[in-house]
Amino acid sequence: MDDLLQLPWFSDAQRELVRDLHRRAGAERWLDPHADDVAALRSALDVLGRWGILPLTVAQPWSLTSNVLAREVLAYHSGIADLAFVMQALGALPILLMGSEATKSALLPKVASGRACMAFALSEPEAGSDVAALTTAARHEPRGGYCIDGSKHLISNAGAADYYTVFARTGEGKKGISAFVVDARAPGVEVEKQVPSSPHPLGIVRFKHVIVPSSAMLGAEGDGLKLALMTLERCRTTVGAAACGFARRAFDEALKHCRARRMFGSTLAEQPLAQARLAEMHARLEASRLLVYRAAWAYDQSAGQGRITRQAALAKWQATENAQWIIDQALQLAGGLGVLQGSIFERLYREIRPLRIYEGASEVQQLVIARELLSSHTLTTQER
Ligand SMILES: Cc1cc2nc3c(=O)[nH]c(=O)nc-3n(C[C@H](O)[C@H](O)[C@H](O)COP(=O)(O)OP(=O)(O)OC[C@H]3O[C@@H](n4cnc5c(N)ncnc54)[C@H](O)[C@@H]3O)c2cc1C
Repeated sequence: MDDLLQLPWFSDAQRELVRDLHRRAGAERWLDPHADDVAALRSALDVLGRWGILPLTVAQPWSLTSNVLAREVLAYHSGIADLAFVMQALGALPILLMGSEATKSALLPKVASGRACMAFALSEPEAGSDVAALTTAARHEPRGGYCIDGSKHLISNAGAADYYTVFARTGEGKKGISAFVVDARAPGVEVEKQVPSSPHPLGIVRFKHVIVPSSAMLGAEGDGLKLALMTLERCRTTVGAAACGFARRAFDEALKHCRARRMFGSTLAEQPLAQARLAEMHARLEASRLLVYRAAWAYDQSAGQGRITRQAALAKWQATENAQWIIDQALQLAGGLGVLQGSIFERLYREIRPLRIYEGASEVQQLVIARELLSSHTLTTQER
């Protein structure tokens, strides 16, 4: 029984989404990304497209709660399915938020069906946490349009994507960054693979004199950084949700293992230290889920118009850090078999790690939270 889903802010349709997705994702045989990460990703995208859940990633109005619930379930069953889902949102939200009507109607139906695979190309070797330091340049072409030159790295779906949402410099400073949709087949787009510890399509994407029409720009010149941050603020809570999905899986597997593992004349589950560990894992997981659901609820309540900067940062930071701890504890309970390649604990241990780094490392989230607390004139309780 999942009592958190009984909370009043979830709709019956959302509860049904969770039930249906658990049933389908649990029964699906996801391709192993170790063998071929691009094939595994594209196959997962096809499956999600057939199930009809990809419209959630680009729906208008966009529901953060539905995206959070979908990611939590998908991550529980398969990291590659979760990635296939979220990259549609990360790559296409900038189009939804600031694309022209023509760009939206040309691309969003393909994103929603899974026919177009998306990527979000922001990070560069010298511009990670400090995104405003990016140097990829988009210069006006004498005959119209822009010419993009530069390198992005650590780009998920590199080599698998049909379209990259690219952030490039059209001027100086933070207001000198613009966003473009670039067709992956455009002459001058080159991909070099990078291999993460938990396999998925990832790589360096080089843009060598890539010519794009002016209509490829999202919003106006200089809107790029704002658009990137708006997109990340929406997706950040869903990173927390994916972390909860991985952690829940680890917890369930640990519980099963503790009940079955015999030792000292009883089971591991009978050992008080194991029970204390399980209780703390459960507490941290429930706390994380509540932070994630709270941020999603706050976003949906404001119909996407309000800022949830602090709530999203709290959800992402706490859920990813707690998930790392929970998975580590689960592996500890599994003993030596837990570290063997192919064990569910070993897979989750690798899978959770990057979530504490991408879309704003934990330290960045801490700064965001502290900045908002310190700049606010209201105290945290009314009595003071
Ligand atoms: C698996 C994976 C997938 C990714 N996918 C994408 C993608 O699809 N698109 C994309 O654009 N990028 C992607 N990234 C890149 C990711 O967003 C960056 O790795 C992240 O922003 C951190 O940047 P960095 O790696 O350059 O680390 P740095 O910016 O060099 O930071 C290194 C470390 O410094 C610490 N730190 C950072 N800021 C502060 C501070 N102010 N005070 C104290 N400590 C601090 C943090 O611990 C951080 O981990 C991905 C990364 C990974 C690992």
